[in-house]
Amino acid sequence: MEKVNLKALPPEELKTFMSAQGLPAYRARQLLHWIYEKRATSAEEITEFSQKLRRQLDQVAWIGNLELLDRAVSADGTQKFLFGLDDGDSIESVLIPDEDRLTLCISSQAGCAMGCAFCRTGKGGLRRNLQAYEIVDQVISVGREIAPRRITNIVLMGMGEPLKNLDEVSDALHRMNRLLQISKRRITVSTCGVVPGIEQLAFKAPEVNLAVSLNATTDEVRGRIMPINKRYPIKALLKACRRYPLQKRRRITFEYVMLAGVNDTDEDAYRLTDLLRGIPCKINLIPFNELEGIKYRRPDEGRVLEFQTILVDAGLTAIVRKSKGQDILAACGQLRHREVSRPQVMK
Ligand code: SAH
Ligand code: SF4
Repeated sequence: MEKVNLKALPPEELKTFMSAQGLPAYRARQLLHWIYEKRATSAEEITEFSQKLRRQLDQVAWIGNLELLDRAVSADGTQKFLFGLDDGDSIESVLIPDEDRLTLCISSQAGCAMGCAFCRTGKGGLRRNLQAYEIVDQVISVGREIAPRRITNIVLMGMGEPLKNLDEVSDALHRMNRLLQISKRRITVSTCGVVPGIEQLAFKAPEVNLAVSLNATTDEVRGRIMPINKRYPIKALLKACRRYPLQKRRRITFEYVMLAGVNDTDEDAYRLTDLLRGIPCKINLIPFNELEGIKYRRPDEGRVLEFQTILVDAGLTAIVRKSKGQDILAACGQLRHREVSRPQVMK
């Protein structure tokens, strides 16, 4: 009989699994606590269970864990984690310290199918969706590495398009919320603009923050740099944003990657203020992180500040996002898959 991965089981099903082993419901609750809060990586570590019970569990089940393959630390304190998946693929997560926050940027897919012209993850295409436990385990594993410090915020801005893997993503978000005690207000899902996904997110994971990578102010330019725009043009995207049910005092974040000579003119800034009128929002300006093999350039600082000033003068909240972790290729858009050769683990 194949062993069951306890982390891949939805938490509700753990009770059924344990009762099938002749174990009472409170054992399932203890197990959840040990897997998610104590971060146990095997039954052996669950010291609350007797040796006998640990052995019994070990016969039928295992606890799936991402394998930490590499950890890089940037001069600015940002850290990048490379994780191996069970099938030999790999993903990256980035830990970003900022004042009293410790934000973990996690991946939702291995690769990405959306093909944005400025993004390194997009260059390699999609390899596969991550399962819920592989998404949550990035939080658990990094949490284990940095203890006793605690991750305070989660952003789904790593590899992949979360709304193209919404079932697993929403399952993962619920686990973070319920089992890792990370408040939904501290979780942000970022999308390139998958309109039906935005509508579903509101039902599947209400109350998490929504970030939308807008990145251009005309369909002509957006269509050139983001293929998704051909399917869901700016008007349809912003309509979905206007309809997105926001909690009190909450706002949608619009990300705007600034590409020199492409989307960074004064006219763009004025058009942006027109497009976003009436949407409770804030704008994150992200000066492009230059990448080998990608032709775009980062605008100079003066251009970025003038663009920002136009938005601010029009009454919008616009901040320029500092590029963190560039020296270790951990900044926005720099993540990608790495071939890792290692023996396949037989469970
Ligand atoms: N797929 C989702 C989330 C991951 S991408 C999305 O597109 O929103 C996270 C952010 O990185 C997006 O806002 C994207 O526009 C930005 N980004 C991608 N490549 C970049 C680069 N080279 N420089 C700066 N930002 C980049
Ligand atoms: Fe995918 Fe987001 Fe990169 Fe576009 S920017 S290719 S949607 S990860």
